[in-house]
Amino acid sequence: MMRRRDFMAAAAGAGIGAASGGGSARAAETSKGKAVLKLSCQEGVMAGRDLKEKLDNLEELGFAALEPHGGGLPQRVDKYKQALEGRNVKISAICAGFQGCIIGVDPDDRAKAMRTMKEILTAAGQLGSTGMIIVPAFNRAKALPHKEARVLLTGFDRWDRRKTHDPKPLLVELGEFAAQAGTRVVLEPLNRDECYFMRTLADAASMCKDVSSPGMAMMGDFWHMTWEETCDMGAFLTGGDYLHHVHMASRRTRRIPTTDGDADNYVVGFKGLKAIGYQDYVSLECGGPKDQGERKKVLANCVKLLKEQWEKA
Ligand code: MG
Repeated sequence: MMRRRDFMAAAAGAGIGAASGGGSARAAETSKGKAVLKLSCQEGVMAGRDLKEKLDNLEELGFAALEPHGGGLPQRVDKYKQALEGRNVKISAICAGFQGCIIGVDPDDRAKAMRTMKEILTAAGQLGSTGMIIVPAFNRAKALPHKEARVLLTGFDRWDRRKTHDPKPLLVELGEFAAQAGTRVVLEPLNRDECYFMRTLADAASMCKDVSSPGMAMMGDFWHMTWEETCDMGAFLTGGDYLHHVHMASRRTRRIPTTDGDADNYVVGFKGLKAIGYQDYVSLECGGPKDQGERKKVLANCVKLLKEQWEKA
């Protein structure tokens, strides 16, 4: 009997995979060309005492992009633009940084989320970012029940029926805003310890399908996927064309990959990224050694490991 992993590999080889019910997402092997491994690193994870040192290390270690935090980003746009001048480093995604909760019980909480998300999206567009990462509701938030929240976000109460909405479904409004700003909203599924609303890549992709906007996207984070997904490759295939960012951490302790030895295996996931012709960034979001010199060494080993595993995939 064919093991699941072998089946997924065979399916990807045959071009089966990311086709959705609506037929809008497809295995992008043919549509986008060959996938590329472009490494990114969150600003707080990169070794270095300030932005300049971090960017120097980023380039030296072979990373292609930096992922800044979204908090106060509108005030830091010029700082990043100046720091990136003459470098080969780009801005990948912007990690959250908004306030409020987009599916909060309190309408003021929702309005605050929409307002602050739009401020960050404008800044993200100015920096040429892949998109702003959002989590609709953490477990600690006072959020609406699942079904109500989903209708509020996408307008759909079943796959073929969008309820008329005044105002627009929130993610439709946000996706349009993001597209106009030249960037995207990127939904991030988290593990059950952090959120219940959206835990799998398929669920996030399903919302992108409902919203159906060039400004609407989703991502996968290997750390959360370790908890929630049955197959890394299968998860990325369900993301298909909606997948525009990936987070990476070691698989047992959420530190820089290589920290957890043999557990830090991403080959099956990378096969999925290759099958969908992934063109965006794989970005480190994890802890690391306090000592900056030590951190730089571990980051160098991590880059080596990820490149080797990408070749194997
Ligand atoms: Mg993450």
